[in-house]
Amino acid sequence: MDIFTAIYFVAIVFEMAIRAPISSKQRKEPKSSRQVTSQEKALLGLLFLAMFFVPIFYAATPWFDFANYSVPTWANWLGVVILAGALIIFWRAHADLGLNWSPSLEIRKNHELITRGIYGIIRHPMYASQWLWVIAQPLLLPNWIAGWLDLVVFIFFYVLRVKAEEQLMLEQFGDQYRSYMQKVGAVFPKL
Ligand code: SAH
Repeated sequence: MDIFTAIYFVAIVFEMAIRAPISSKQRKEPKSSRQVTSQEKALLGLLFLAMFFVPIFYAATPWFDFANYSVPTWANWLGVVILAGALIIFWRAHADLGLNWSPSLEIRKNHELITRGIYGIIRHPMYASQWLWVIAQPLLLPNWIAGWLDLVVFIFFYVLRVKAEEQLMLEQFGDQYRSYMQKVGAVFPKL
């Protein structure tokens, strides 16, 4: 395994370490509405496949070797820098969202609208972090399948998820969320 593939897997371990404490706590928290559709489950599964399983097979088997391409070393390192940025945003987002986080679209019994910290800069820092991740992935895993599938899947996920999520937040928080949307950009800060 080359160093950039290794760095990719180290970053996955970091993401798991950031998410694990919140993930285990949030399961015990009461929820007031669940909106887990089968389409959402399928997209989450595909994301997991593209981010985790396909890269594992790319690293551990020769199956995808036919789709390799080469990348200059500076581009590999650019990928490392982008991935580090993704991890920092991912960490801040979890620190600020806390137990309001859930893997699928859900509203908790005591759901609080978070507009502080990184949520005061962008509305979707976790998805912004994932955008950076899927841009870094083709630079670190130079393979047309292992590098790019995650980007393709994430485009579909992002479009469908953000629309449904903002609709849910508007139903729950009404004008409070409407004015938050006016002030704060989705994945790019508003100037
Ligand atoms: N879109 C956000 C959060 C992703 S987690 C991000 O990219 O960082 C998904 C859950 O977060 C949804 O179930 C929704 O209920 C909750 N959520 C999204 N934005 C929120 C906010 N500003 N405050 C509180 N909860 C939020």
